[in-house]
Amino acid sequence: YQAKRDRTGVEVYESKRDSNTPDRLGLLGDLRRALDAGDVELHYQPKVRFDGQVAGLEALVRWVHPERGKVPPDEFIAIAESSGLMPHLTEYVLETALAQVARWRAQGLFVPVAVNVSPRDVHTPGFAGAVAARLARHGVPAGALQLEITEHVLLEDPQRAADTLAGLTGHGVKMSLDDFGTGYSSLVHLRRLPVSELKIDRSFVARLAVDTEDAEIVRCTVDLAHSLGLVVVAEGVEDDETWERLRDLGCDAVQGWLVAAAMPPDEATAWLLARGSRGWQRPGAAADTVP
Ligand code: C2E
Ligand code: MG
Ligand code: MG
Ligand code: MG
Repeated sequence: YQAKRDRTGVEVYESKRDSNTPDRLGLLGDLRRALDAGDVELHYQPKVRFDGQVAGLEALVRWVHPERGKVPPDEFIAIAESSGLMPHLTEYVLETALAQVARWRAQGLFVPVAVNVSPRDVHTPGFAGAVAARLARHGVPAGALQLEITEHVLLEDPQRAADTLAGLTGHGVKMSLDDFGTGYSSLVHLRRLPVSELKIDRSFVARLAVDTEDAEIVRCTVDLAHSLGLVVVAEGVEDDETWERLRDLGCDAVQGWLVAAAMPPDEATAWLLARGSRGWQRPGAAADTVP
């Protein structure tokens, strides 16, 4: 079974994550075959700054199962993690994303792409070198790749994780800390991780405009991140009011359905081309003034 730690670091058994049910074993086999057949896709969701500039795109994996239809990433990623398939999935995602970055660059679209990596990847020996080799093979500069990690990378063997992350940043790859606020003792982790960006988890952003506690948490997170020299991105921005609140709190960039959901490659290309150098404009809103 897969153990998951709660905020106090105590392992809790989650039956939902049990990797040995026939259902999960079936899905695992199907996922392995889908990866081999190239049937797993990446969609791309923009990160935009408040002046509309596109800061980058996040690659999000999408799998449509022949019988079950769309399988949510959270579900099959948990299966891949507990089964040893994760390195293979990550290789596939990195390969697909870098090929896309190279195509966009050839079209004059120099937009960085972020790839989510799991704690398993960060603990795979040689991971940093493998990423660097893959970048070189695609002719993509390291600065065009960002890796999104979570605090969970430090749960087991923090020293090895720190070494791998140092290796990656040494090659010029930018690191982003995803889902910030959902782990435990976040402050300690923030100091130990060589990240240049922090993403505030959607659970704090969603009710920002109506919940004063969430607003306070977001305010403190933005200030903390800035005092550490990090760029702050808010995830899950769905409406104008939340956008405005985040802008006023000094957040740097947002991601969310207000701007765009994750799009298949062709749609993402069209989206990028249509925005051109003007960037994304909020429908019906006067130009956002950036302090
Ligand atoms: P994440 O990296 O935190 O990605 C954000 C999730 O929020 C995505 O869900 C995205 O589609 C969703 N989202 C974006 N904007 C909004 C919004 O405005 N409202 C709402 N309600 N949701 C929004 P998705 O694609 O289902 O991915 C879930 C998680 O699965 C990701 O969370 C990430 O942890 C993981 N994941 C996705 N792709 C990969 C991958 O290629 N590799 C790994 N290791 N993990 C991945
Ligand atoms: Mg992410
Ligand atoms: Mg996230
Ligand atoms: Mg998340």
